[in-house]
Amino acid sequence: MKEFNSTLPKYTDTVIIGAGLGGIGMGIGLQKAGLSDYIIIEKSTEVGGTWRDNSYPGCACDVQSHLYSYSFTDKSDWSKRYAPWNEIQGYILGTVSEYNVRPNVRFGLEVNSAVFDEKSATWTVGTMDGQTIQCRYFVLATGPLHVPQFPKIKGLESFKGKVMHSAQWDHNYDLRGKKVASIGTGGSAIQYVPEIAPEVEHIDVYQRTAAWVIPRDERPYSAASKWIFKNIPSLRRLYRSRLYFTNEMRVWPIFNETLAKGVEFLAKRFINMQVKDPETRAKLTPDYTIGCKRILISNKWYKTFNRKNVGLVTDGIQEIRENSIVDKNGVERECDTIILGTGFIVDPRGYMDKFNLKGLPGRDILVDWKDGAEAYLGNTVTGYPNMFQLVGPNSGLGHNSIIFMIEAQIHYILESMKEAKARGVDYLNVKKSAQDDFNNEIQERIKGSVWTSGCSSWYQQDDGKNFVLWPYSTLAFWRRNKNVITSHYDWVKIEAQPASSNNASASKKDTGDAISKADSKATSAKGSSAKTENPEVIA
Ligand SMILES: Cc1cc2nc3c(=O)[nH]c(=O)nc-3n(C[C@H](O)[C@H](O)[C@H](O)COP(=O)(O)OP(=O)(O)OC[C@H]3O[C@@H](n4cnc5c(N)ncnc54)[C@H](O)[C@@H]3O)c2cc1C
Repeated sequence: MKEFNSTLPKYTDTVIIGAGLGGIGMGIGLQKAGLSDYIIIEKSTEVGGTWRDNSYPGCACDVQSHLYSYSFTDKSDWSKRYAPWNEIQGYILGTVSEYNVRPNVRFGLEVNSAVFDEKSATWTVGTMDGQTIQCRYFVLATGPLHVPQFPKIKGLESFKGKVMHSAQWDHNYDLRGKKVASIGTGGSAIQYVPEIAPEVEHIDVYQRTAAWVIPRDERPYSAASKWIFKNIPSLRRLYRSRLYFTNEMRVWPIFNETLAKGVEFLAKRFINMQVKDPETRAKLTPDYTIGCKRILISNKWYKTFNRKNVGLVTDGIQEIRENSIVDKNGVERECDTIILGTGFIVDPRGYMDKFNLKGLPGRDILVDWKDGAEAYLGNTVTGYPNMFQLVGPNSGLGHNSIIFMIEAQIHYILESMKEAKARGVDYLNVKKSAQDDFNNEIQERIKGSVWTSGCSSWYQQDDGKNFVLWPYSTLAFWRRNKNVITSHYDWVKIEAQPASSNNASASKKDTGDAISKADSKATSAKGSSAKTENPEVIA
C-alpha cells in the first residue's frame, strides 16, 4: 500500500486546501517566494485533482496542452494537441517531484472547518478526523469541478444494474456486450460516449439540451516538433503564445452577437456534414446561441450517432426502474448499466454545505453567500481576512486555459502577502465597498453577453445569476491581478501575537524575513509605525 503523511503540524504559515493544479501551483509559488512554511491538505490519497479523478475513456483536456500547463515548467514532449488525462496527471506528478512539493502535502484529510480568530489573526483549520492546524494565511484551492453531481431521478436507487459517474469510472467493470444508458451531454459524455460505443451492445444517450460541438485538432506532434520544443525553448514559448492568443480571440463572439451567429453557422454545417439521419441531426442541433453554454470540441461525437447501436433520447426521463429507463412519453428502454455524465456541483454553497467557514465575528460564509457566492477578483471575500481563493467566484473561463487565471491569482496572493509584510500588519481584509463595486461591474458586463441569451447552464445559479465566469479577456484578468490596489483593503495590526506555540512565532518570523528578501520593490507603507491598539486599521 502506498504510504502518505496524514499528520498535521500544530502551525504553519499558509494552509492550502486541495492538491490540484491550483494548490500545487500555489505551493510552488510560495516556495519560489522563499515562503516554504506551508501545508497542502488533500482529501484524496494522491495529488492531481481533476486529472486524478477523471479517467474515463477518452478523457482529455479541451485547451491545448502546450497552453494547459504551467508557464514555469518546460514540458516539450506532449504527445498531441489535447493530451489525454493520464499524460496530464503524469505532468502533474512530474512537476510535484521537480519542485519537491510532496513533503508539504498531507493526504487523506478532508477539511471541514476554518475559523478566524481576530485577536491572534490566525486561522484554525480542522479536518474530518478531528485534527487542527493554525495558520496565518489560508488558501482555498478546492476546485470548482470536483464533487460529482448525482441527478435526482425517481427510481435511480432501485436500479439493479451498474451505476457509475464519469468522474468515478470503474475500470474493472467490463462494458463489452452491455446495454448502456448514458445520461447527460456535457464535456465528459461527449468524450466517453464515442469511445465506448464500439464496445457495448447498445447505448442510449439521454440528452436534455443539445451541446454545440466544434471540430478538434487531433494531430499528434511529430518527433521533429518535439525536438524543436525541447531544444529551442524560444520557439516553444512562441508556440504557446500563439495558442494563447488564438484561444483568446474566442472571447469576442461572447460579446458580439453577429460574430456568434457566424460561428454558429459554421458549427451547424459541421453537424450537417457529420450526422446522416435528418431527425437525429435536428435533435442534436442546439436551439440556443452558440457560447451560451460551454462550447465543446470533438471530431467523434456527432458521427457516433450514425452507428446502429447508438440511440438518442430527447424526451426526458420519467423514472428509472430495476432494469430500464422510462422516458416522459412512457417509452421504456432496457439497460443494465447507467453512466452519469451529469457533471459536478459547481456552486460552492452546494459543495461547501458542510464546511464550517467563519471569518470576523459574526461572519459565516454560508450566510454571507446566501444569495450567491461573491468575491473580489475571485480572490478575497470581505469579512474573511487573510483568506484567498483560486478559481473563486467569477474567475472561471469558457474559452482559454484556467491555469493562466490560476497563475495570475497566485501572483496576486503573493503580492498581498508582501504588502501586508511591508506595512507590518497582521491581516488584510477586502473592503465591502470594493467587493460590491467589483460584483456590480461584473454582473452588469455579463448582462450584455451570450451567456444571458436564454439557455440554462452550470454557469448560473437557480435565479440565473452567473457566478462562474470572468466576463473579460484573460489579459484583463492578468492586468487586474498584477498589483494589489491597496485602498481596496483594510490593513490591520493587532497587539497580540498568534495564540500558538513558540513554533508559531518562529514560523512567522521566518516568513517575514523571507518576504522582506523577496520583496525588494515593496515601497508603500514599509516600516510605517504599527500602532498597538487591538486591532487597528492602519490603512
Ligand atoms: C474532465 C475535465 C476536463 C477539464 N478540462 C479542462 C481544460 O481543458 N481546460 C481548462 O482550463 N479546464 C479544464 N477543466 C477544469 C479543471 O477542473 C481545471 O482546469 C483545473 O484542473 C482546476 O484545478 P484546481 O486545482 O482548481 O481544482 P481540482 O483539480 O478540482 O483540485 C481540487 C483538489 O482539492 C481537493 N479538495 C476539495 N475539497 C477539499 C477539502 N474540503 N479538503 C481537502 N481537499 C479538498 C480535491 O480532492 C482536489 O484534489 C476540466 C475539468 C474536468 C472535470
